[in-house]
Amino acid sequence: MIVVLKNNVDKKQVDSLIGWLKEEGVDTHLSIGKYQTILGLVGDTSNVDEDLLNGLDIVESVKRISEPFKNANRKFHPDDTVIEVAGRKIGGGNFQIIAGPCSVESEEQIIEVAKAVKASGAGFLRGGAFKPRTSPYAFQGLGIDGLKLLEEAKKETGMPIVTEIMDAAHLPYFENVDIIQVGARNTQNFELLKELGKIRKPILLKRGIAGTIQELLMSAEYIMAGGNEQVILCERGIRTYETYTRNTLDLSAVPVIKELSHLPVIVDPSHATGIAKMVRPMSLAATAAGADGLMIEVHNNPQKALCDGPQSITPAAFDELSKEIRTIHKVISNNP
Ligand code: PEP
Ligand code: MN
Repeated sequence: MIVVLKNNVDKKQVDSLIGWLKEEGVDTHLSIGKYQTILGLVGDTSNVDEDLLNGLDIVESVKRISEPFKNANRKFHPDDTVIEVAGRKIGGGNFQIIAGPCSVESEEQIIEVAKAVKASGAGFLRGGAFKPRTSPYAFQGLGIDGLKLLEEAKKETGMPIVTEIMDAAHLPYFENVDIIQVGARNTQNFELLKELGKIRKPILLKRGIAGTIQELLMSAEYIMAGGNEQVILCERGIRTYETYTRNTLDLSAVPVIKELSHLPVIVDPSHATGIAKMVRPMSLAATAAGADGLMIEVHNNPQKALCDGPQSITPAAFDELSKEIRTIHKVISNNP
């Protein structure tokens, strides 16, 4: 349920309404927007008397929300959410590129790639330390040592870091990670999502391999229900009957999610296609579709990469691409 408040309402009256709803067992989310102030009601609202609310002086209108996601719903929070990390903003017209190797492999590799992608304009460095691999015999990532190497690359370049968590028990090791990624295989690991709801750090939540948009938003809801409102959604392709590409990039998810939710949406063209030469066209298309950013796998030696070499582009290709992305983004932001 959402309660649209009248313009210029008295803060004391709002506080007293919030207090009364709390006594009724209903949590609230206040969104003070440019044009409207909205009070979102979360939880079981079946006992809340709509007519009574409608009759209050400070209330303009009351609406029931049919979607099962509340905190993530744009009706709750009409303005775009802008997430700021180390002075870099994502969302609300702010565009960021996250780039780096699939996995952290060595100090030399991560620092070389970090320096290169920074010079080409990436705002964040990515690199997997805990890797979710289909085969238990494949390289599983360097684990805690990988996190340490990422921290070194951060120190060396000043770039904030993004890396995947697979187990909530590892959270203490993620203290210096700037954005924690939840991979496609864990999008519906609800216990992990609940733990991430307890922290106050941005979460990059990928769409599940066969997940619907609504399921993605419900997973975001798990994190937000715990009080962590900093969620960035990532379209990374879904499993379809097509086998030429690793996954099928659902670009229409970008405008759909933007309509349904206020959260920033980025696109990962690397996992979506699995093919390095497809990364450029899909990056440009995702930018044109209105994404708030991109996550691109870049490796200094893709042929020798321990993970996802075939979809990794070189620093030189990234440098070219990054300029083209900026050009497209400029056009889009001038004609939103
Ligand atoms: C990754 O980003 O390296 C990754 C494993 O992605 P996904 O979860 O989208 O497969
Ligand atoms: Mn990868």
